[in-house]
Amino acid sequence: MRIGVLALQGGFIEHIQMLRSLQVNSFEIRKKEDLRTAMDGLILPGGESTVIGKLLKDLKLFDPLKEQIQNGLPTFGTCAGMILLARKITGTDTTYFGAIDIEVKRNAYGRQLGSFFTEAPFKGIGSIPMTFIRAPYIERAAPEVEILSEVDNRLVAARQGNILVTSYHPELTTDNRIHRYFIEQVK
Ligand code: GLN
Repeated sequence: MRIGVLALQGGFIEHIQMLRSLQVNSFEIRKKEDLRTAMDGLILPGGESTVIGKLLKDLKLFDPLKEQIQNGLPTFGTCAGMILLARKITGTDTTYFGAIDIEVKRNAYGRQLGSFFTEAPFKGIGSIPMTFIRAPYIERAAPEVEILSEVDNRLVAARQGNILVTSYHPELTTDNRIHRYFIEQVK
């Protein structure tokens, strides 16, 4: 198994380390040529969604990745990665991959709560540590979307088909159960 990790900006190294802790091979996607090697799954890390979105297009990575995602490639987006996968971003007509039927609100936690840590349940796994950094949350989800985590009545993790998203950063903890969950989907 090989997992591609988008490595244009943001926290991709931590995802690679998480995968390593699970003995899963990964490679960094930085340019079009990196897509020559087939992948079994894709991780879109946190960072700044506008920056990553622009780089994806400038580097001509957007269309080939979108095609693979649409064709069912298991894809996991954390934070900015979730924004890139959402069908709708609140307050703008800009969208990126539009692969999961959710509306997300960027920087949704006010200034004081810009970054915080908590523990909350993840469906089927139990309580897990969650690190939020200028995080989005899910404002609306279609009925087909499975909700996996809620914090203070806000939806913060979800899955639909081949797409998994979290508002928080499981890669910034020492708990690799969410990555293991993703790897199980890839299998
Ligand atoms: N605030 C960022 C955005 O809107 C997301 C933050 C993150 O990925 N940690 O893209």
